[in-house]
Amino acid sequence: MRRFISIILAPLLLLSLTGCFGPPVDPDTVQESIQVIAMDTPMLISTYGRRSTAAAYASEDLIRDLESRLSRTEADSAVSRLNRGETVEPDEDLTTLLRLASCFRDRTGGAFNIGVAPLVSAWGFTTDHNQVPAPSEISRLLKVVEETALQESPEGLTLGPDQAIDLGGIAKGYAADKLADLFREYEIPRAMAQLGGNVLAWGDRPDGTAWRVGVQDPARPGEQNAFAGILNLKNAFAVTSGGYQRYFEESGKRYHHIIDPATGYPADSDLTSVTVVADCTYDDCVGTLCDAFSTAFFIMGEEEALDGWREWQEESPSFFDLVLITEDGRVVVTQGLAESFTLDEGSGYTLEIVS
Ligand code: ADP
Ligand code: MG
Repeated sequence: MRRFISIILAPLLLLSLTGCFGPPVDPDTVQESIQVIAMDTPMLISTYGRRSTAAAYASEDLIRDLESRLSRTEADSAVSRLNRGETVEPDEDLTTLLRLASCFRDRTGGAFNIGVAPLVSAWGFTTDHNQVPAPSEISRLLKVVEETALQESPEGLTLGPDQAIDLGGIAKGYAADKLADLFREYEIPRAMAQLGGNVLAWGDRPDGTAWRVGVQDPARPGEQNAFAGILNLKNAFAVTSGGYQRYFEESGKRYHHIIDPATGYPADSDLTSVTVVADCTYDDCVGTLCDAFSTAFFIMGEEEALDGWREWQEESPSFFDLVLITEDGRVVVTQGLAESFTLDEGSGYTLEIVS
């Protein structure tokens, strides 16, 4: 019996001794991971460092709080109240998002437009009762969308009759910006946050190498690890928009959830996906911009997207870069990502670096 006890105790003792006297644990590699389903999206957040657990739980609270105030499917959110015709006094987040949305609308020639909400609803993307609206209904709603404007009064903001806004094209990017602020506040040395197609690669990996962010092959949407290529990134936002994840089919035709405000129909450009990558170390809503631009460039198509990128290159060189996947089988990468992007050789795409 004594021998039996010593056999059990020996490994326990060894364990406790190595706990006390073993090699010190590097606090920057201590990790916490949480999964959250919010904003209609599965999210995965992994934080590292001494305060990784506190930061992970604070991240979840932050996302749930933003969702409760910004979602148009939460009946009591400020956005839902605006959409019901109520006058709303916007809080700081909503004020920022509305200002940014208006700026992005101007900078994308109207392709990014939160006023597109009535059309998104008509196609059934807020209720999952998808349908192809009648052409006359689309024409009517295009007029509503075109005229959408927030009226300001001392009591707050109000939308006109039938008008509505949808922050679905920027809310996750904004959440990623807020997560970056939170990681700064908690002094998190490294983290990986995947909010659906919005990725925040904070710092580097525990071994000092870059985070590896897969760019999904839009032709194989259901397959895990079916990538067109991999981005090696440190301290970056990488936001992807495409028509391959949220869609329905009717009469053999596929209809996805990114609506072209010029036609009222799902965007039908020569692109199947757009990824926008930018530095996440500025404290300045860059994640929100990436989210808006990935949606807008997907609508605009290859030529206009590259024109848009070149315009920004002149103003602020290397502010953001793009990975465009075209319908004719090319992956077009802007020069700032030439070293970071690796094509998956088995994907069948050809790589083009552009400047
Ligand atoms: P996801 O939300 O799937 O990551 P996006 O960021 O591209 O994809 O945003 C798509 C969402 O944005 C839609 O579900 C809808 O709520 C909204 N939306 C659709 N078309 C537009 C548009 N032209 N401008 C702004 N928002 C849009
Ligand atoms: Mg977007």
